[in-house]
Parts: sequence; structure tokens; C-alpha cells
Amino acid sequence: MTMNFSVKTKQNTLISIRNIYCIGRNYRAHATELNSEVPKEPFFFQKSLPSLNTSNEFTIPKDREIHHELEVVILIRKNGEEIPVTNTDDYILGYGLGLDLTDRKYQNELIRDQLPWLLSKSFKGSAIVSCFQEEKISEDFWLKINGDIHQKGNINQMIFSIAEQISFLSGMLPLMKGDIIFTGTPSGVGPIQNGDKLEFGYGAKTIHSLMVK
Ligand code: ZN
Repeated sequence: MTMNFSVKTKQNTLISIRNIYCIGRNYRAHATELNSEVPKEPFFFQKSLPSLNTSNEFTIPKDREIHHELEVVILIRKNGEEIPVTNTDDYILGYGLGLDLTDRKYQNELIRDQLPWLLSKSFKGSAIVSCFQEEKISEDFWLKINGDIHQKGNINQMIFSIAEQISFLSGMLPLMKGDIIFTGTPSGVGPIQNGDKLEFGYGAKTIHSLMVK
């Protein structure tokens, strides 16, 4: 796999990526399935830039159990600080879908020891993203593994909306053109195995697929 730090828009423009932010526990049913509290204020973590993966394959790191987290991903259009919640649309260049791949066992150990999640979230190829489109993803989005639906969600089930996430995050740090934000996973997270075919999309459309090897 080559290291590719840009993503594609539907018009085939390449956009260089700067930071990869992810919100935690943004769907009630997912917080519950991990036995976590539903947060009162959004909280974020990062995945490193080399985890970006726009390819159609993923290799499981040796001896690790990797879980899928299907998420709507936002691509930021321009730099911004303290963006009002009513004005966040101006800052969105596109919407995509992605997988925030997670080493769950390692993450649980880090949570237990109150340590940062970084290395349980940030291994090679772990930030999988589709290409980005201008239209919002308002239909149900879904992940199929070997043809069966494993996760399904809708952005109207989010605890913190996309606008609230952009506003909150940009109040804490400057957002940059080319940042991407993973906006949280609905319930149904689980392991992936060698040989799995992963497909994700929304409504009747498949927008990305990849093989696990
Ligand atoms: Zn996630």
C-alpha cells in the first residue's frame, strides 16, 4: 500500500489531508453496546495522517483483533476558528463514508489505564475513507460484510450533530482546510477477518468497497 495523504472528490479533484479528527460515542446505542456513558459534551481523538486509507484493501496488523466503525466523514473546505453552529455549512467541502478501524482490546486496556487511545486507533490503513461528494448523506448509511448488513445508521440519530461538532471543535482549536472529521459510529461494531469483503454506502448506493487480507 502506498502512503496517500489526499482524498478524492466526486469531480476527481485531489485534496491534501491535514488532520484526522474523530468524535467518540456519538450514537446512544453504540455508547451502550460499549458500556460507556452517553457524553454530555462532545469529545474527540485523532488518528495519525499515515492511517489514511483511500485504497480498496486493508491488511490486519499481526496478532491484533480489529473492529469496524462505520461513520459519516466530513471534509473541511477552509480554515476556521469559533465557527457559529448556524454557519458550519460554509466550511464543509464534502461528505463521505469511512471506517474508523479500532484495535478494541488494546483500546479497552488504554481506557482502563486512563491513557490516550492513539495507538489503538492509528495503525497503517486504519482511517478508511470513500471519495467525497457535495450532497449530504441523509439516507440510512450501512456497512455490508460478505453481503450481510452489519451496521446501519442515520445522521439524525447523532447525539451531537455535524454542525455542533464543527462548531465545538473549531472553538477548541483552529480547523484547517483539508481536515477530516469522523462523526461517530452507530451500533453494530464488530471484528473483521482475513478474506472479508467490506462494502459501504447509503440508500441503494454502494460508494466504497475493500478486501481484508
Ligand atoms: Zn469511531
